[in-house]
Amino acid sequence: MISVDQALKKVLSYIDVLEEGEVPILDCLGQVLTEDVYSSINVPPFDNSAFDGYAVRYKDTIGASQQSPRFLRVVDTVRCGSSCESEVEPGTAIRIMTGASMPRGADSVVKFEDTDEALREGSSTGQPPAEIGILCEVKAGLYVRRAGESIAQGSKVLSQGAVIRPAEIGVLASLGHSRVKVTRRPVVAILATGDELVNIDQPLPPGKIYNSNTYSTAALVLRYGGIPRILGIALDSEDSVVTGLQQGKDADMLITIGGVSMGDYDIVKDVLAKQGEITFWKVRMKPGKPLAFGTIKGSSKAGVVRDIPHLGLPGNPVSSMVAFELFARPAILKMMGKKNLAKPTIEAVVENPIVNNDGRRTFARAIVERRGGQYFARLTGPQGSGIITSMRLANGLVIVPEDKSGVKEGEVVQVMMLDWNEEVGAA
Ligand code: AMP
Ligand code: MG
Repeated sequence: MISVDQALKKVLSYIDVLEEGEVPILDCLGQVLTEDVYSSINVPPFDNSAFDGYAVRYKDTIGASQQSPRFLRVVDTVRCGSSCESEVEPGTAIRIMTGASMPRGADSVVKFEDTDEALREGSSTGQPPAEIGILCEVKAGLYVRRAGESIAQGSKVLSQGAVIRPAEIGVLASLGHSRVKVTRRPVVAILATGDELVNIDQPLPPGKIYNSNTYSTAALVLRYGGIPRILGIALDSEDSVVTGLQQGKDADMLITIGGVSMGDYDIVKDVLAKQGEITFWKVRMKPGKPLAFGTIKGSSKAGVVRDIPHLGLPGNPVSSMVAFELFARPAILKMMGKKNLAKPTIEAVVENPIVNNDGRRTFARAIVERRGGQYFARLTGPQGSGIITSMRLANGLVIVPEDKSGVKEGEVVQVMMLDWNEEVGAA
């Protein structure tokens, strides 16, 4: 039986980064940029005001104070989106709104609060007064946002390899880019196996259970940026599994659920052995020991038959989710061109003892909380691999290494964070 680390290395050795594709910017959240992006414009495109106020010449404010205002003649108003024909000449000011283009002649902005505008008649109607009192001195350039101060025309704004977050999408939009080139998302085909499984939209006959794992798996695929393709349920027969897998032969990765343990009807690994190549089918971990990995012959593209990586997740709901986090997630991230494939891991004080007696790496479902600047992890309760609610309650997995026979209460442990929600644990 191979270790978790060896298994992950093996899986990743079969995974290639996918090709690039051009997509609308809102479709690429979480994807990796495959081009450098340069700006063809200045952002902002023109000098503009950072506040609502008056565009002035700073020299006209020298000596201004509350006690001794400098009075300037108001010659115009400039709103956002329009440009102003008038010029600020000595002794004059132009009323200006945040983001409006600076008028010629002006070099600074005085905020409304630093003028006597509130005392002027008609100020509430937004009508500019004929004259305005400036109540403080301003430095040249004050409250002027310079053209190109955020992004200079011709500069490199985003580099190939950058992961697209909302801020990157904002940057692209501010340059007027509606599409961008990124590594495409993998299509992950998911086939559930088991005579006992029933579709979630059907009544539940005796002896049957709902096919829940397809949905938790598809949700994980979505969460990590892939495109799930649900292939439905195959029966516990080789024919049925082979037929089910046919529909996934143009996917980038195949996931089957169940059918990999030692039971008489666990046939996924036999199919894998016949239809492709089996690389391993047991990993020294708990939960999730029966886990198959290999390749299946896919459809041919331009005369070349592709080998599709195939991950055979165990059927127990917790095992399948944990094994997904450990192996399918890094595979998806690698296909998407990401470099950091590890789930964030923290150190926490464990609040329950955990036994680990058979040389496997244990991943115990835990609720991680921060108290007094330190993380604490307490188990969610019964750790059976069929108890899906243990995943529902958890925000982390306490890791007990294979060479440790357990951990005692109060020991510091590594916890792989499933997410950072600290409000877990409530029904
Ligand atoms: P297997 O790996 O096929 O032996 O399944 C192990 C356990 O997981 C059995 O109790 C199955 O009923 C359950 N199981 C398998 N597949 C699913 C699924 N898609 N949804 C929910 N439970 C499943
Ligand atoms: Mg089964």
